[in-house]
Amino acid sequence: MLTNFEYAKPITLTHAVQCLAEKEREVKILSGGTDLLVALRRKQVQPALVIDIKGLKELTALTYTPGQGLSIGAAVCVNRLAEADVVRQYFPALAAAARVLASYQLRNRATVGGNICNASPAADLVPPLLVYEGVLEVVSQRGSRRIPLQDFFTGVKQHVLERDELLQGVFLPDTTDATGATGATGATGATSATGMTNVTDVGGLYLKQGRLKGHDLSIIGLAARLNAAKQFRFAVAAAAPTPLRLFALEELLNAQPFTPALAELAAQAINLYIHPISDVRATAEYRRHMAAVFVRRAVSSLVTAGGKQDG
Ligand SMILES: Cc1cc2nc3c(=O)[nH]c(=O)nc-3n(C[C@H](O)[C@H](O)[C@H](O)COP(=O)(O)OP(=O)(O)OC[C@H]3O[C@@H](n4cnc5c(N)ncnc54)[C@H](O)[C@@H]3O)c2cc1C
Repeated sequence: MLTNFEYAKPITLTHAVQCLAEKEREVKILSGGTDLLVALRRKQVQPALVIDIKGLKELTALTYTPGQGLSIGAAVCVNRLAEADVVRQYFPALAAAARVLASYQLRNRATVGGNICNASPAADLVPPLLVYEGVLEVVSQRGSRRIPLQDFFTGVKQHVLERDELLQGVFLPDTTDATGATGATGATGATSATGMTNVTDVGGLYLKQGRLKGHDLSIIGLAARLNAAKQFRFAVAAAAPTPLRLFALEELLNAQPFTPALAELAAQAINLYIHPISDVRATAEYRRHMAAVFVRRAVSSLVTAGGKQDG
């Protein structure tokens, strides 16, 4: 049984942030509800008012602007990310993570904003959003602010949003760069409508280990990206109290010659930078083992892709 609560479905952002600013009552935002309804049923949260944000058109847009980037509304559902051509082409690690989040039916409800704001250490969309250097757009009656995703999480299920703030969306800078801007050499070029030659990311991927395909959170998740300047980016899920960008591992690899030996170096080093726990899903030891397996596989595949571009 659910505890009684009032339900509001605003159709303007102004009305939504007005409802959120109510001080006397506990308010909760409902997006897809796949996390919130579980918490309501378990009485982990008992709000007096639930605000459904799925009717806000500002939150359902998915817009790619060449040369600038991808703007993803907080209420965009996970299947839209998995299927959008621009996401698959320019942000492949994000499309890959979306494809392995829960089941097809659940992905029709679950949203990107819910996955971020639920702040689970195992959130599958967060590692790819970290390697693409996502910036969150947050709004309240007091105005708006931008928060780099890497500064958002403060602990298990905890983040820096104030109680009257709403996540409006997340922005990912474009993965294409005008030639020369990144110092990249030899990456395949595509001529844009302006006649400028653009270089794009070499590749990106997301590897997930779960207990049951389609029905469970990650035991470990790894997003890896090799950008146009042949610089690696890594982030992990379920390997620390929060999803984590692995800056130190990136620095280590990016300082080395670009050879297949990088895969083994990454596998040897990754465990210096993660802090997994043992829980119902897996032991810390197994998580450490799989992190090394995944990073070896990811680096090997990205180095091969980078080598082909050169050749
Ligand atoms: C059977 C099952 C399997 C699952 N498998 C996976 C999995 O494989 N991988 C994975 O990562 N997750 C999984 N989940 C968890 C869940 O589906 C995802 O986290 C999902 O993306 C949550 O999105 P939602 O829109 O449903 O969030 P909601 O439940 O609507 O919201 C989640 C939390 O975020 C807050 N919130 C939502 N939107 C906003 C906003 N715009 N601004 C501020 N706060 C907001 C809500 O108040 C709530 O606290 C699973 C859940 C279930 C039930």
